[in-house]
Amino acid sequence: MTGIVWFRRDLRLDDNPAWAAATAECQNVVALFVLEPQLLHAASDVRRNQLLGHLAALNESLVGLGGMLVVRHGPAQTAVPRLVDEVGATALFVNVDATPFSMARDRAVARSINIPVRPYHGTVVHEPGKVLTKAGTLSQVFTPFYKTWSVTAQTPWPSPGPGRPITHASDELPAPSGPVRQVPGQVAAWNRLDDWLGRVESYPTPLDLPSIDGTSDLSADLKFGTLSPRAIAETLDTTQPGHETFLRQIAWRDWWAHTLVRHPDLANTELKPNYQAIVWRNNNDDFERWCRGQTGFPIVDAGMRQLAATGWMHNRVRMITASFLVKDLLIDWRRGERFFRHWLVDADLAQNAGNWQWVAGTGPDAAPYFRIFNPTTQSKKFDPDGAYIKRWVPELASLPRSTVHEPSLAGPLELALHGVTLGDTYPWPIVDHAKARTRTLAAYRAALNDGP
Ligand code: FAD
Repeated sequence: MTGIVWFRRDLRLDDNPAWAAATAECQNVVALFVLEPQLLHAASDVRRNQLLGHLAALNESLVGLGGMLVVRHGPAQTAVPRLVDEVGATALFVNVDATPFSMARDRAVARSINIPVRPYHGTVVHEPGKVLTKAGTLSQVFTPFYKTWSVTAQTPWPSPGPGRPITHASDELPAPSGPVRQVPGQVAAWNRLDDWLGRVESYPTPLDLPSIDGTSDLSADLKFGTLSPRAIAETLDTTQPGHETFLRQIAWRDWWAHTLVRHPDLANTELKPNYQAIVWRNNNDDFERWCRGQTGFPIVDAGMRQLAATGWMHNRVRMITASFLVKDLLIDWRRGERFFRHWLVDADLAQNAGNWQWVAGTGPDAAPYFRIFNPTTQSKKFDPDGAYIKRWVPELASLPRSTVHEPSLAGPLELALHGVTLGDTYPWPIVDHAKARTRTLAAYRAALNDGP
């Protein structure tokens, strides 16, 4: 018997239920990856190169077992049925990716082949829909979800069997067009996890500082599936310092995955319906300055420039930059969500849209809309000596900590001494935060009919 494993967001052979099931049921296993046009064209270079690196590493692992990764250009609706016919496959094994695009694609593929599709859930700890309240609904608050999540029994995963990967005609895998951000492949991903477990005891660092290496940086491995979230959860020992806090973050990831399945329109529609009436300013010039890291708010600009340069941003800075777009510039959260989704190496529809809705106050368990981050206060608290700002906004590098968070407070002489000319070498602030806050509160109140 010949089975096909169609890899998508599960680029590993260990702890991979679809792969294990195929090797248990089939003598010959064809490992397939479909290069969908949007995977190559809609992603930033950083994410595309990371993906291509992981695919090359997966191919190497398969070659080591006597097989190979069969790469086919998409669309999958054409590529998968063709391969099924070519190899005379008897079953198709997949790990479900619950985005609306993937679900629709999988349904179309399933309709166009006449062999069974075996779906597994290898990209989350608990499959969406499994962690529910006693009433059978998805908790709208994270903490009760987490409590149930922690005690929910794992769906058993199949054990691998003696089936072997085989070789077959493949399209050529494009080479990355530039450096790959993290060493590709599941072995390197496990090394990153091991390294992290050696540091996790101080997680989160007392001040959650973006200037230090205080988080795991495993989000891209979770996005591409070079690490299995279930394997991570099983490796953690919650009696050890830092482990429980880290596990909670893995549960947040599952919570947004559950939320996306419940609300497939998460990236387009406010989950709280009365927030749909907010009238956004949507000033294009402001949006463009936010995208380029030219807002005149150093912490925001540092974050946006880090994103453009590396494809990654610390969670705290994601919150600050997102809040600034929505609450200071009154720009529709969907525009920010799309921008992040293009640039992030770990871009994941559920996580990105869920967190954007959380920041905008339109999603579940969000802080009340009237609590608005002050970007400068956040900057002083989470980047006290300005090290993060100075790294990503080098034109402010010689300012002292007293003015680096808010250069417009420095006198002209001081600025000149440090080589800064506002409006020339660095922008004036794009808004007055206090006025912007009042404007946003008015827009939210008007939408919610929430008094003056
Ligand atoms: P760690 O702090 O080491 O956390 C470990 C893991 O837990 C992460 O890798 C991630 O899988 C999960 N996690 C941590 N925080 C969150 C969270 N708030 N929500 C869901 N899962 C979480 N994360 C993504 O993976 N993809 C995205 O597209 C994404 N977009 C975001 C957009 C905004 C506006 C915000 C505020 C957050 C977003 N996050 C996203 C969540 C979070 O910022 C990243 O997961 C985290 O910064 C990745 O770094 P890390 O792996 O070092 O995290």
